[in-house]
Amino acid sequence: MEVTGKVERLREVCEEARATGDRVGFVPTMGALHEGHLSLVRRAREEASLVVLSVFVNPLQFGPKEDYRDYPRNLAADVEMAEKEGVDVVFAPDEEVMYEDEGTGIAVDPGSLGDVLEGASRPGHFRGVCTVVAKLFNMMGPCRAYFGEKDFQQLVIVRTMVRNLDFPVEVVGCPIVREQDGIAMSSRNAYLSPDERRAATCLYRALTRGSDVVAHGERDANVVKAEMARVIGAEPLARIEYVAVVDETRQFAETERIGEGSRALIAARVGTTRLIDNLRLPRP
Ligand code: AMP
Repeated sequence: MEVTGKVERLREVCEEARATGDRVGFVPTMGALHEGHLSLVRRAREEASLVVLSVFVNPLQFGPKEDYRDYPRNLAADVEMAEKEGVDVVFAPDEEVMYEDEGTGIAVDPGSLGDVLEGASRPGHFRGVCTVVAKLFNMMGPCRAYFGEKDFQQLVIVRTMVRNLDFPVEVVGCPIVREQDGIAMSSRNAYLSPDERRAATCLYRALTRGSDVVAHGERDANVVKAEMARVIGAEPLARIEYVAVVDETRQFAETERIGEGSRALIAARVGTTRLIDNLRLPRP
């Protein structure tokens, strides 16, 4: 396995692989790897001959009051895990390499999808995500790129960006990996105290409550949202940022009636840690 921070080297390895007809698989991450990330790597390993994992904590996608400085970083552990999973190249660039001309302010506009839900709570977040992903895609060249459904809105926006801007990239969405108690794996779970960690299960409990209510015949999205909000409200350490039901097939439009392709999404703070989760609702 090779670890590099150089764009030229990354390009070279990818081009060499494609020249011999090999498929390139790409897993972009911010590091602090866990089983969720590794599930993407395993899928890439099954489907591609060259697997590239990037590790870069992208300052552009953090708001001024967010956790950019405190975000967990442990490249040595990430490299070890990547090696065990059979990654071929870890691309871990410095900030100067990624943003030497950042002062120009040129960036990728996520459009109206970037203004709702996560985008409403985190202004500028998806602009930062689209910009870094576009840069990474341009460095990688034609490839298959793996994203988790954990960040569902991000997956939808990246897919849309690839379509609208004609990136030669095939985006693959992968299911959420959860701990035994249902909590979605996240690098930010490391911030939680033991009490908060217990409380944090309320996101998944709320989603499964919503799913149960729909399975029992409820079709009114407002009723389903109220049920989910009640579960979070009953947890003293948690505070809701939003509870939403969207239509996956209609570019994230909020749904009034539960239908085919309805998905519930939650963002909540547990203590000071901001967590997100989502679940596909059962078919009516
Ligand atoms: P991050 O390092 O948080 O930027 O995540 C990198 C990629 O891993 C994104 O595509 C995430 O959606 C994905 N990911 C993070 N957590 C999980 C999880 N629990 N299950 C599946 N994918 C995940």
